[in-house]
Amino acid sequence: MEPNSLSLLFAAFLIATLAVKLWLASRHIRHVAQHRDAVPAQFAAKIPLAAHQKAADYTVAKTKLKIVLLVVNAAVLVGFTLLGGLQWLSVMLTPQFGTGMGYQIALIAAVAIISGAIDLPFDYYKQFTLEERFGFNKMTPSLFFSDLVKHSIVGAVIGLPLLWVTLALMEKAGSLWWLYAWLLWCGFQLFMLSFYQSLVAPLFNKFTPLEDDSLRARIEGLMQRVGFASKGLFVMDGSRRSAHGNAYFSGFGAAKRIVFFDTLLSRLAPNEIEAVLAHELGHFKLNHVIKRVGVMFVLSLVFLALLGWLKGQAWFYLGLGVTPLLDGSNDAMALILFMFALPVFTFLFSPLLSITSRKNEFEADAFAAKHSNSQDLISALVKLYEDNASTLTPDPLHSAFYDSHPPASVRVQKLLAA
Ligand SMILES: [Zn+2]
Repeated sequence: MEPNSLSLLFAAFLIATLAVKLWLASRHIRHVAQHRDAVPAQFAAKIPLAAHQKAADYTVAKTKLKIVLLVVNAAVLVGFTLLGGLQWLSVMLTPQFGTGMGYQIALIAAVAIISGAIDLPFDYYKQFTLEERFGFNKMTPSLFFSDLVKHSIVGAVIGLPLLWVTLALMEKAGSLWWLYAWLLWCGFQLFMLSFYQSLVAPLFNKFTPLEDDSLRARIEGLMQRVGFASKGLFVMDGSRRSAHGNAYFSGFGAAKRIVFFDTLLSRLAPNEIEAVLAHELGHFKLNHVIKRVGVMFVLSLVFLALLGWLKGQAWFYLGLGVTPLLDGSNDAMALILFMFALPVFTFLFSPLLSITSRKNEFEADAFAAKHSNSQDLISALVKLYEDNASTLTPDPLHSAFYDSHPPASVRVQKLLAA
């Protein structure tokens, strides 16, 4: 391919993707605003108008912030690539770091730091202005910044060795490096799935065993009914950061733990908690978790093979604004360009992934209805939507692109019909 053709193709996809995203966001805002004045009929008895309007305002505010971010991120992407930002960084770093491993790590670190610094004011604004305005923020600025420092350290401790090995494979493992890198990456993913909960999560939150005996008995009864063995039930102090509630389980094989946000426990009745957990267990028992990991592994193999080919093509660098080094390694640059370009070319396919994920949600709901109680799940969903100020009236097309979960109204309808 000619470098210019790639530049044009990249620009065309970037503009198309940005246009679709902005269009979806504006549709979403309009749709939510149009339905602001009345609670949808099926929820009218359960959700007060004030809560519905709060959800509408919260959704509109979040979507407006997203529009700003879309434009900023697109500009940053063009700045790094076609406008020569990466090329400039590379020229700045080579005198100090040479063109070997030190340079490569420095280049990736520099890109990560610059991107993080651009995101920071938006993250701060979102937490302390937007979330604050709607009563969801429970963080102090000092917790925000200590989280930032911890995340950076954890990211470096985990990421740097992984990056180093990947770059070493790219340089030394021959033409099949991408296959070895894939094996490494899969192994790392499985390791994180198994040990994230015990190694990393405690750095950010406190986990205490669930103490409520009657609730525990109830949950253990459910686990027995569906044949699920867990390594323990834990409560997480989610309320330290946010008023949003959630339940999840994490871990793999024998290390499975069930974690409840304290915000969820304080809001839902025991029968509703059981129904929510039954939904989560449904994901596990119906093999959604394994399938998702499998799809991730297959996609990453395809993408790594593609990167394996692209990294040897001069037009790949030139077309994205970078002159490849003749007497040094371009591997880190190839990684960065690939990470930047990939989402631009794949976004338009994202509804395909949402379709599967929605299908899984319906199946998990049906599982919960069968092994727990559909009325309890409905009332839990209603409370969670109200508490999280999630809109009940999303724009259907926006939802198809972005939402892993079907709209609440559709889920409730299906549960009632079952
Ligand atoms: Zn689910």
